[in-house]
Amino acid sequence: MLIEGALKSGYVDWRHWLPCDSAVAMPSERQGDPPPFTRSTAREAGWQWRIPLQHRDGNGYVYSSAHLGHDDAVANLTERLPGKALADPNRLRFVAGHRRVIWNRNCVAIGLAGGFLEPLESTSIHLIQTAIIRLLALLPRDGFDPGVAARFNRETINEVERIRDFVIAHYALAGRDDTDFWRDIAAAPIPDSLAERIAVFRATGNILFEPGDLFGPTNWYCVLAGQGARALSWHPIADGLAPEELARRLATLRGRVAEQLAELPPHTAYLASLAR
Ligand SMILES: Cc1cc2nc3c(=O)[nH]c(=O)nc-3n(C[C@H](O)[C@H](O)[C@H](O)COP(=O)(O)OP(=O)(O)OC[C@H]3O[C@@H](n4cnc5c(N)ncnc54)[C@H](O)[C@@H]3O)c2cc1C
Repeated sequence: MLIEGALKSGYVDWRHWLPCDSAVAMPSERQGDPPPFTRSTAREAGWQWRIPLQHRDGNGYVYSSAHLGHDDAVANLTERLPGKALADPNRLRFVAGHRRVIWNRNCVAIGLAGGFLEPLESTSIHLIQTAIIRLLALLPRDGFDPGVAARFNRETINEVERIRDFVIAHYALAGRDDTDFWRDIAAAPIPDSLAERIAVFRATGNILFEPGDLFGPTNWYCVLAGQGARALSWHPIADGLAPEELARRLATLRGRVAEQLAELPPHTAYLASLAR
């Protein structure tokens, strides 16, 4: 109403990179013990989430409405529910992107008012929190200095662009070509900033890390390597470590992880202890 209706701030639309613009959500009955992770599964026109709670599973299908109709999305999700549906499907619509001017005069758009990134990495609440912290740091006492707002806007947009690249990497490297959706994804260009990260990783085995990145090298490595991107070389400092020594250190590390794991309670027991 204010940021767009009154102030005409504009919107940077990322649908050419992130074509999913719809979701259908439906809870289902819990089957067995909840696993300690959310499962995201690539589907014909997007992906499906399954979030295990103690008393039910949250399920949803995030899809591109240009590639799949709402009724088909509901049918596909219903067919793949892990248990009996507990409610009617809830439909959501969104446009990936952000307000062109997020802090505009005396109006600051935070949360859904400021933009949207699909929930593949569940980053919305984090972005709300960091925007509030940034706003508190820059909160003016007298008037609204355009320089202060420009700084807020630059940092906020930088942060969301880095997350955008991380989300796009899941799609761009998926290598699927079995439906129009995945063929369109494969044919679409990617942001220069993401292309650079992938190129540097391939050439050096290194992940660029920028201050303020929400997703660090470990996260990026999991997505890049997990989606099949291979580093063609490694950092020269690694040559200083003999292969036998590397194997010994990794074996020690593996042993320590196994020791820690053996001491941890099963997920269900841990949840029960929290609820007591
Ligand atoms: C199924 C689902 C799962 C999600 N999972 C995650 C997750 O795991 N992690 C994560 O980070 N994010 C998640 N999100 C996203 C997250 O919930 C939202 O990004 C966040 O709630 C947005 O907060 P908001 O305050 O901007 O908007 P909202 O929470 O929508 O709040 C806006 C409020 O404004 C009110 N309102 C609207 N118009 C008016 C008006 N004209 N006058 C007065 N009041 C008005 C509305 O009633 C509402 O209460 C999920 C979202 C969905 C739908």
